[in-house]
Amino acid sequence: MTVAAKRSVYEPDQAGLAFPRYPVFADAAQERRHRRVRLAAACRLFADLGYEYGFAGHITVRDPEDPNLYWTNPFALEFGAVKASDLLLVDHDGRVIEGARAVNRAGFVLHAAIHAAHPGILASCHCHTINGMAWAALGRRLEPITQTACGFYGDGQALITEEAGAVVVERGAGHSVAAAFGSDTKVAIHQNHGLFSAGQESVEEAVWWFVAAERACEIQLKAEATGHPLKLVPEANAAHSAKHLATPFMAWLHAQPMFDRTLRLHPDVIDLSTGPRPGAHPCGASRIERPPCRQRLETSMSPNINQNKYNYCIGRCEWASAVICCISEFSCSSSLTTWIASRYRSRRRRSRPNTT
Ligand SMILES: [Zn+2]
Repeated sequence: MTVAAKRSVYEPDQAGLAFPRYPVFADAAQERRHRRVRLAAACRLFADLGYEYGFAGHITVRDPEDPNLYWTNPFALEFGAVKASDLLLVDHDGRVIEGARAVNRAGFVLHAAIHAAHPGILASCHCHTINGMAWAALGRRLEPITQTACGFYGDGQALITEEAGAVVVERGAGHSVAAAFGSDTKVAIHQNHGLFSAGQESVEEAVWWFVAAERACEIQLKAEATGHPLKLVPEANAAHSAKHLATPFMAWLHAQPMFDRTLRLHPDVIDLSTGPRPGAHPCGASRIERPPCRQRLETSMSPNINQNKYNYCIGRCEWASAVICCISEFSCSSSLTTWIASRYRSRRRRSRPNTT
């Protein structure tokens, strides 16, 4: 495969090597489950990173069937407790279509405006993070002083001065903030407020740009605190880095280890036990095979694990069923496979008759 044909320069030329790929879905329902789980995992990830600040913080992703609806975390539910089943399906008027909790008013006003104004934005994140808020207080764009910051070179970032410092709870204010977004904006620095990020193809992409922007803010604050003049990356080099780093797929790739770790640490996040589609297994699998547990677990550890071939659950093995579905939902990550293998081995040891 030529470099030009690749979605990432990191894709190996050598055939037969595992490399993360976007998941492929059989239908919209399966994609919806995936987006919900990834959004809930994003909340856990942000909690682990210390991004939570009271109820200020929201993540959204469009519904795969109706782009005028989006999924989001409920108001005042701690990030560290969010499960896929807790998420709300909301319309652009802030009406909860699915879910039992209230929606965050500021989250609805801002995110609905962003989604409404920019059909190309699939997902968006916002939190009151320390470095993002500190940088936003300066009312400046991030400068290309690292490869991380080069990801926001040019149109990759927006500086929003509208409604600076005012709590955005009125819809008109939300529209003025959203209007400052560009079609290629990855992060928006809202003056005296904080950071917003946008993903065009996945929740993971929006999460990655938020994490990267928060880090870029921290780095520039620390670099400037030394009192030494900053060495800017030359324009040509910054544009080169942006070309290779600042793509939706690259952001998704960058986010995979973070999501793998989050799902390993918080396997309960995939819970979809409330509001399952009629006839579906609670895990969300739509085509359920019921092979012997042992055989399927051993199969799941094959080198083909990264090829998204697994779309089933194991009804007879309750402890494993969610995990096996997880393989389908989360692109068969190698770390999850390792975790499954260790769970399986310890389970077998516990269930083995004591012959001594
Ligand atoms: Zn806010």
